[in-house]
Amino acid sequence: MARALLLENPHPDADPILADAGFEVVRHPGAMEEDELIEALEGVDLLGIRSTTHVTERVLAAHPELTAIGAFCIGTNQIDLRAAARRGIAVFNAPFSNTRSVVELAVAEIIALTRRLTVRDKALHAGVWDKTASGSHEVRGRTLGIIGYGNIGTQLSVVAEALGMRVVFYDTAEKLALGNAHRMGSLAEVLAVADIVTLHVDGRAGNAGMFGREQFEQMKHGASFLNLSRGFLVDYSVLREKILDGSISGAAVDVFPQEPRKNGDPFDSELRGLPNVILTPHVGGSTQEAQENIGHFVANKLSKYVRAGSTDLSVNLPRLTLQPSDAARYRIAFVHRNTPGVLALVNQTFAEHGANIEGQILGTVGEIGYVVTDIGSELPREAVEAVRGMEDTLRLRVMV
Ligand code: NAD
Repeated sequence: MARALLLENPHPDADPILADAGFEVVRHPGAMEEDELIEALEGVDLLGIRSTTHVTERVLAAHPELTAIGAFCIGTNQIDLRAAARRGIAVFNAPFSNTRSVVELAVAEIIALTRRLTVRDKALHAGVWDKTASGSHEVRGRTLGIIGYGNIGTQLSVVAEALGMRVVFYDTAEKLALGNAHRMGSLAEVLAVADIVTLHVDGRAGNAGMFGREQFEQMKHGASFLNLSRGFLVDYSVLREKILDGSISGAAVDVFPQEPRKNGDPFDSELRGLPNVILTPHVGGSTQEAQENIGHFVANKLSKYVRAGSTDLSVNLPRLTLQPSDAARYRIAFVHRNTPGVLALVNQTFAEHGANIEGQILGTVGEIGYVVTDIGSELPREAVEAVRGMEDTLRLRVMV
């Protein structure tokens, strides 16, 4: 029986999905170092990890027979994606399974900042009764400025409007404004009108330092600021200065340029100890529900790849899905080097062996090509071996 090895405790709901796809699921609670992982991968077809285990070129070279890797998390920089693709190993992650959790934390923080909740909380814990309405507002009727209107920004837009907020947003890409949200032509236009500015852009290199002195100084006096996206996007020393001089009334920060690698490691930031500043240890997406969603999402991606060759949302292979056909008797998933003429050669080889193609789909990304072919006739073993033996073949799987 094929085996799936799951490290770092992905949600248990992943197990029945993989079992249903024909895998014996073996779990190991923690992460693994390179040598331990190489040893553990003996006889394994599918590997599931989270963010700590590193799947390096060396690991992949030792186990080129792996079929696929599931990253039960959002990021994939712990996996050598190119090295995996060059061996025809598909990699999947869960790019948006925790977005609702981020939205809910942002909403909680928007209200908390606007009511100066942590200031009241800290005072009362210190034995100080300070009942005042000064500086406290309802969020209803206030303007939320969303920077980055993607998976998270759009959901936040909808929920914020349900709270009675006015939503304006800026995105570098053309985006449909949901509900009554208003698209602005520039970041500066958002900053000029927003009572609360919240950053939800992606971490592309060009965004490093995108929010610094100029942007903080364009914000309305007394506005608040949230960053639950990436730490390196924001100049926190300027944020500190603006909190201390009162021009920014509060901030919620979940992400930092340098984050401790593990729980218990020391943490420092210029934002520590400031009033009406909420600091959280990158927990925006950390909920039980998100873990469950991730478990389902990644296990289903692996299952669909193994059973039907679907690379929908794969992070390292061309993304494609061939619809099932009643006439198909075999499905062939073929990962190859993207060189001219490969597909013609494959189809010619099938034709020469009398294998009749019912359906086919091809995709390429950079140096990698991927073809899924349905065969409606007999599929002689020699045809499969001939294609498997071709110079540009990286992986060939036959599904029945
Ligand atoms: P996404 O890719 O769906 O959306 C990002 C949006 O930002 C896109 O629409 C893009 O066009 C836009 N954008 C990029 N650069 C921009 C710029 N300079 N100005 C304006 N718009 C810009 O991403 P998402 O899933 O919504 O995630 C948003 C951010 O949240 C990411 O940085 C992600 O890493 C982070 N995130 C954090 C947590 C957490 O735990 N705190 C969890 C999940 C995601």
